[in-house]
Amino acid sequence: MGALMEITGEALIGGRAVRGNGGVFFAHAAATGEALDQPYHGVGADQVALACALAGAAFDTFRNTADHARADLLDAIGERILALGDTLVERAMVETGLPRVRIEGERGRTIAQLGMFARLLREGSWRQVAIDSALPERTPPRPDIRMGLIALGPVAVFGASNFPLAFSVAGGDTAAALAAGCPVVVKGHAAHPGTSELVGRALAQALLDCAMPAGVFALLPGADNAVGEALVRHPDIKAVGFTGSRQGGLALLRIAQARPVPIPVYAEMSAVNPVFLLPAALDARAESIAQGFAASLTAGVGQFCTNPGLLLGIKSAALERFADAAASAVAASAAAPMLTAGIGAAYARGVAALADHAGVTALAPGQIEAAPGRPALFCTSASAFLADAALSHEVFGPAALLVVCEDLAQMRQVAEQLEGQLTATLQMDEADIDAARSLLPVLERKVGRVLANGYPTGVEVSSAMVHGGPFPATSDGRSTSVGTTAIYRFTRPVSYQNMPQALLAPALRDNAGGIWRLRDGVMTQDQ
Ligand code: NAP
Repeated sequence: MGALMEITGEALIGGRAVRGNGGVFFAHAAATGEALDQPYHGVGADQVALACALAGAAFDTFRNTADHARADLLDAIGERILALGDTLVERAMVETGLPRVRIEGERGRTIAQLGMFARLLREGSWRQVAIDSALPERTPPRPDIRMGLIALGPVAVFGASNFPLAFSVAGGDTAAALAAGCPVVVKGHAAHPGTSELVGRALAQALLDCAMPAGVFALLPGADNAVGEALVRHPDIKAVGFTGSRQGGLALLRIAQARPVPIPVYAEMSAVNPVFLLPAALDARAESIAQGFAASLTAGVGQFCTNPGLLLGIKSAALERFADAAASAVAASAAAPMLTAGIGAAYARGVAALADHAGVTALAPGQIEAAPGRPALFCTSASAFLADAALSHEVFGPAALLVVCEDLAQMRQVAEQLEGQLTATLQMDEADIDAARSLLPVLERKVGRVLANGYPTGVEVSSAMVHGGPFPATSDGRSTSVGTTAIYRFTRPVSYQNMPQALLAPALRDNAGGIWRLRDGVMTQDQ
C-alpha cells in the first residue's frame, strides 16, 4: 500500500493503493481555491464493482469475528489516525479552511466515536438478545426461540464535506457499520481528498494490524456522481450512510429504491434548527441569549447541520432588545472561507434570496459579494413566513432568520408548519414552563433532539444522543447517526428456533458471560 503518510491520489481497494481509471480532479485549498499537489484519479465502474465484491466476499468472515476483535480494530483505527499527527491536521486545515483547534477537536471526536463503539462491543448487550425458553408441557408446546441482531451487509458511506474527520472516511457511519460487522466502502468527498486518503491508509493499516480481511474497507475517490450512483446500485451493498445536500440524499434514495433489491438509505440532509425565544427568558436575558446565539450561528462558518438558522419570538420590547444585540454580534463576526467554492456560492445565493425577499428585512447585512462566508441575520413576520415555504429552507452557512410572532398561538402555528428538524431549542425560564409545555408535543413530532437553554451546535457523542429527525432532516426519522444507537441502522434481527447451542453466536448461548438479555420477558444478566 506504500507509505502511510503519503498522498498519491489513489483509491484504496482490497488493502492496496490503486490508480483510478475514471475522471481526474484536484484537491483545493479552501482559503485560496489553489489546486494542491498531483491530480486525483476517480475510480471507474469496474473498480467500484471490485471494491463492492471484495466487501461482499469479506462479509461473512467479518461479521462472525468476536465482538472483542472488532473492538480492538476500532481502537487500532483510532491509534493509527492519531499516529498521522500533524500531517493529517495540516492537510485537513488546508483542504477545509477550518482552524487547527477545530480540526484537532474533530480528530479527538473521531477517535472518541471509535472508542465508544469499541466499549459497546465489549459490554455486549448491543445484539439485543431475547430468549423465549422451550415450554414442552404447554399445549401447543413452545419451541426454544432466540433472537439477536446480525450485521446487515456491506455499507456504502458518503463522507460529508463539513466534517472531514468525524463524518468522513473513519467517521460515525463507518465506526457504527464496522462495529456491527459490516464491511464499508467509502465514497470520499472531493472537498478533502488528501485528508480522506491519509485516514483511509490508516484504516487499511489497522485492518492489517488486526489480521482482518482487506475487503472490509475501500476508499473510492470520485470526480462525479457516477461513482456514488454505481456504488449504491451495486448488489453487494446493503445500506447507505450519507450526510450532505437534500438533492444528493434524495438522488441516492431514489437509486436505492429503484434497485431490483431496494436497500435502506440513512441520509442526513437539511435542517434550520429552530430556536424558540420564550417571553420570560427574553425579559430576563435577551442580550446574553443573543450573544450565545451569534456564537453558535457563526461557529465553523455556520457549516454545521445543527446550525441555528431560525429564531422565533413574540413581538415585545424584549424581542427588540434581542434583535439589536444579535444584529450587533452577527455584524461584528468576521467573514471566513467556506469549505468549497460551491458551498460558498450556494450560501451567497441563499443570502441574496433572503435580502431580495419583499417580506424580509436585513438586521445584519453581510457584504456577501465580497466575502462569501460573511454572517447575516434577517427578520420577517410570522404571517410572511407562513405564506412562503421557501423562507423555511436551509441556507447552509452563518445566516439566520428571526420570525416575529403575534402571540404564542401563532408561534405554535409556525412550529406546526416546519419540516422535520435535527433539533429545536427552547430559551426559557421557570415562568415559561406552560408555554414550553404547549410547544413540546409539536416539537417532539418534528425533531430528533429538544434542548432547553443551550445552543444546538456541539453534539455530544454518547448513548443518549439522537442526531436525526423526520424528513428532510434525515431520510429515516427512526434513526440517529451519532451515539451508540447508530449501530442499529446496520443490523437486522434473526430468530433461531430449537438451534443446537454449538451453532448459536456466543451472545445467544445459555452461558453468555454476563451479557444483559431479555429471558422469558425479564431483563436478566446471565452468567
Ligand atoms: P452533496 O453535494 O450532497 O455531496 C455529498 C456527497 O454525495 C458527495 O460525495 C457527492 O459526490 C455525493 N453526491 C451528491 N449528489 C449525488 C448524486 N446525485 N449522485 C451520486 N452521488 C452524489 O453535499 P456537499 O458537497 O457536502 O455540500 C453541498 C450542500 O449540501 C451544501 O451547500 C449544503 O446545502 C448541504 N450540506 C448539508 C449538510 C447538513 O448536515 N445538513 C452537510 C453538508 C452539506 P460527487 O459530487 O462527487 O458525486
